[in-house]
Amino acid sequence: MATILITGGAGYVGAHCCLALKRAGHDVVVYDNLFNGHEQFVKWGPFERGDIRDKARLVDVFARHKPAAVVHCAALIEVGESVKAPDRFYDNNVTGALVLLDVMREAGVKPFVFSSTCATYGAPQRLPMDETHPQNPVSPYGWTKLMIERASADIAAAYGLKFAHLRYFNAAGAAPEEGIGERHEPETHAIPLALMTLLGRRESFKIFGTDWETRDGSCLRDYVHVLDLADAHVRAVERLLAGGESLAANLGTGDGVTVLELLAAIERVAGKRVPASPAPRREGDAPALVADITLARRDLGWTAMRNIDVVIADAWRWHFEIEPKLFGP
Ligand code: UDP
Repeated sequence: MATILITGGAGYVGAHCCLALKRAGHDVVVYDNLFNGHEQFVKWGPFERGDIRDKARLVDVFARHKPAAVVHCAALIEVGESVKAPDRFYDNNVTGALVLLDVMREAGVKPFVFSSTCATYGAPQRLPMDETHPQNPVSPYGWTKLMIERASADIAAAYGLKFAHLRYFNAAGAAPEEGIGERHEPETHAIPLALMTLLGRRESFKIFGTDWETRDGSCLRDYVHVLDLADAHVRAVERLLAGGESLAANLGTGDGVTVLELLAAIERVAGKRVPASPAPRREGDAPALVADITLARRDLGWTAMRNIDVVIADAWRWHFEIEPKLFGP
């Protein structure tokens, strides 16, 4: 059992990682600037408000809490924003992570579990995508994540850092019974937007492209439950703490779901039709993204346990029941 520092621990994936680490018997410390995070999500350990670019603050937090490992989730994540304001993304995601890695080196903390993304691959050259797929991001966001994969691998070679680059596909779902879930402003993700349409907060869900070369013409994605993602982080932390080798691993289900199938699944779970209409393709979208999950299964002993219906049922309960209680209607 160890103390784990989770940067971005008040955010969507970070909060679920705190829950999963705590359930696995570890102590967690949340480091978050609350730019995108929510203080309501900090429930499983002490909260240190701070920015990852603030070295003095990080040094102080490391000295007081003596973490044995870091799970680094703090980042700006909105792809479209990264195109409009790349400098902010490089500053926050790259400079911030380099400061964090520097503090880890000075404190002698080796295990570094990094929130990476399938966006580091860029346009798919083959499906499913395995970890040897060329990495050629198509957005500044993807580049910031790839740069930190590269920097941490180089730092590992030089100073003995141990890394786990966890490349998420589409994180989705929630842990409504624990009071945490997805909440972004502005919201751009398909599942929350479709659910908000059901709630009447939006008139119609736009299907971005119905003429893609997929089985029904709509985009195909690999939606993975955030609690499954969190479980993979626990496994990665424990592997590195036990002296296991560094690794880069895809985290997905290995199964694709199209936007139309997603809407059908929502109707199945909610018992209501989502008002939806075809819309032009969204710039920068790939037709299909699906993970090859062989490596995570082999090296982390991990597979996603929850299917798309569980993802939607949990997201549904989160957005309908819990989110309004915590944040107002
Ligand atoms: N999508 C859509 N309408 C929306 C939002 C998303 O049709 O209002 C589609 C989008 O084109 C993509 C899929 O849903 O194919 C998942 O999009 P999301 O933004 O959730 O995740 P991404 O795959 O872009 O990271």
